[in-house]
Amino acid sequence: MIRVTIWNEYFHEVKEETVKKVYPNGIHSALAEFLGKDEEIEVTTVTQHDENGELIENVGITDELLANTDVMIWWGHVRHGEVPDEIAMKVKNAVLEGMGMIFLHSAHHSKPFKLLMGTSCNLGWRESNDKERLWVIDHNHPIMRGINDRFFELPAEETYTEPFGIPDPDKLLMIGWYNGGEVFRSGCIWHRENGKVFYFQPGHETFPTFYNENVQTIIKNAVKWAAPVCPRIPLNCPWVARLEEK
Ligand code: ZN
Repeated sequence: MIRVTIWNEYFHEVKEETVKKVYPNGIHSALAEFLGKDEEIEVTTVTQHDENGELIENVGITDELLANTDVMIWWGHVRHGEVPDEIAMKVKNAVLEGMGMIFLHSAHHSKPFKLLMGTSCNLGWRESNDKERLWVIDHNHPIMRGINDRFFELPAEETYTEPFGIPDPDKLLMIGWYNGGEVFRSGCIWHRENGKVFYFQPGHETFPTFYNENVQTIIKNAVKWAAPVCPRIPLNCPWVARLEEK
């Protein structure tokens, strides 16, 4: 079983009626709903805020949770600053040790993503209900399994545009085009020491993006791709004895 932890800021869904209508039980529940149907996946959800919008201690992340997570999914937007630096560092280190990590949409500005990238992770944005056309660059990558057309479309998404302040991805899987004319690197992968990282751009809170079948397929594939194949590898720098006699 792949142990997946879905971490969600859970703020817009509590505070804004328009968002609550789209995701009545939170974005984490919408993600858990389709991922939990896969027999290879076991889902845990953790939120930064409770159902009243109150901050949860250590944003719900403990050492035990990280030790028992194979792949973490992160959605955050307006409360990145409340994530303690120490917790963000623990998430980063878990990735370096082998935990898979998927950052969705506005998680581009989350502390763990910025730590793992080492860059600003800035981008241009606009909320104008533009259509997005997501072009597949690498059909043969495991994350793209089942997306057989040249592209698929989302009727409305938040526009994200280049330049995107990230290090060059190990592989660019998708490019998003918006009918305002912009383009954006929408699906990117990186290896960070022992861990695999996927950034996926769709998922603005006011649109039903996480109910889209193609989006769900890609996130599910990404979980399987990012899952570690060996136990966690501790981060140390040991002195070692010679293996052979002189
Ligand atoms: Zn957004």
